[in-house]
Amino acid sequence: MRYSIWSVLKQGLRSNRDWKPAWRDPEPKASYDAIIVGGGGHGLATAYYLASEHGMTNIAVIEKGWIGGGNVGRNTTIIRSNYLLPGNEAFYELSLKLWEGLEQSINYNAMVSQRGIINLFHSDAQRDAAVRRGNSMLMHGADATLLDEHDLRQICPFLDFENARFPIKGGLMQKRGGSVRHDAVAWGYARAADLLGVDIIQNCEVTGFIMESGKCVGVDTSRGKIRAKKTGVAVAGSTSRVMGKAGMRLPIESHVLQAFVSEGLKPIIPGVVTYGAGHFYISQSDKGGLVFGGDIDGYNSYAQRGNLPVVEDVCEGGMALMPMIGKARLLRMWGGIMDMSMDGSPFIDKTDIPGLYLNAGWCYGGFKATPGSGWCFAHLLATDQSHDVAKAYRIDRFQSGAALDEKGSGAQPNLH
Ligand SMILES: Cc1cc2nc3c(=O)[nH]c(=O)nc-3n(C[C@H](O)[C@H](O)[C@H](O)COP(=O)(O)OP(=O)(O)OC[C@H]3O[C@@H](n4cnc5c(N)ncnc54)[C@H](O)[C@@H]3O)c2cc1C
Repeated sequence: MRYSIWSVLKQGLRSNRDWKPAWRDPEPKASYDAIIVGGGGHGLATAYYLASEHGMTNIAVIEKGWIGGGNVGRNTTIIRSNYLLPGNEAFYELSLKLWEGLEQSINYNAMVSQRGIINLFHSDAQRDAAVRRGNSMLMHGADATLLDEHDLRQICPFLDFENARFPIKGGLMQKRGGSVRHDAVAWGYARAADLLGVDIIQNCEVTGFIMESGKCVGVDTSRGKIRAKKTGVAVAGSTSRVMGKAGMRLPIESHVLQAFVSEGLKPIIPGVVTYGAGHFYISQSDKGGLVFGGDIDGYNSYAQRGNLPVVEDVCEGGMALMPMIGKARLLRMWGGIMDMSMDGSPFIDKTDIPGLYLNAGWCYGGFKATPGSGWCFAHLLATDQSHDVAKAYRIDRFQSGAALDEKGSGAQPNLH
């Protein structure tokens, strides 16, 4: 069933009786050409691009819970490609370009909204760093605009420009950045992959890997063994636990990140704004809720819930940036488990075990990477070659010293 204004009208006239489930609920087959473990954004996008770009349709996505229950449905929905390092910027720019055409290619309204993102700066040194980053973005074909205080006051008059400690001097804007309805991304990719023949198997936990002669030839699951020529793992915050079942220890720690939503308010925030003197970022949903977040909780955990000190810390950041936020009431908050790598950058790579491939280490920036990650992981699985823009995302980069430390914080996963 194709979604369009005509199908909405037609179903409306027929009392909405004929809508079909968005994807099938198949029993797992005994074997597939490829299996993707993890039905989050990255796993589903990988399956979709394997089918649509590489013609592989005998594939399955194995999800232990339900589609959209992981970080893909828990994030604060920001997309952007405002990176500095060459190893990152080309990848994130490819991802942003894929976002721009996504709804047409998967025939699903994911509410891609390029309302702009502004990273604020509060000192001359921060402005210089923003100029450098903006130039790097322009050199990679992305867009970047430097805003001075006057420009910024026109766009965001509600900010506390005269803050005594951290006065706001301007911002680096990426107009093509913005937000996307997160769970619609999962549903849209799942539906589009299913239409191409991909089996999406929910409530099926991978409990181990089937190894024969040192090669991975499938997975053990809570619903039995499933064999596969190739197995790709994209389980985000569960990466260390799942890859541990294959005997691999990875340079990844799991940490909790929380998100917050206020009651619905009249439109006030035009795009995404990030604070430059602390970790706080905010946007406003189409329903009017202020959607915001800040630092991770700062200790290792697999619990999908956060703790109160970070609530206080995030709200302090909000108050410093725009004091009127103190009048809004907090409506909802939740947590997700982040796969924090040692240099803050991800992995899209083969492992040392033939037949087993890894997609992980997205820290708290993996939502914007969803289309690019799926595109590049599908390329790797189909061709056994890294995609050009994902060549820096090798697991052995720490051995060779080629770490990709965008933030410059060193081997401190909790600081990336
Ligand atoms: C609060 C919060 C805010 C964020 N904000 C942003 C943002 O604004 N912008 C941005 O770019 N990124 C953001 N992120 C990060 C982003 O959401 C993640 O990096 C990204 O979603 C991870 O990839 P995924 O969608 O595939 O993960 P998930 O959706 O977590 O998918 C992994 C899936 O694997 C499944 N799984 C785990 N173990 C097994 C198993 N043994 N067997 C089978 N399945 C298994 C899980 O159930 C899960 O569904 C945020 C994250 C959080 C939590």
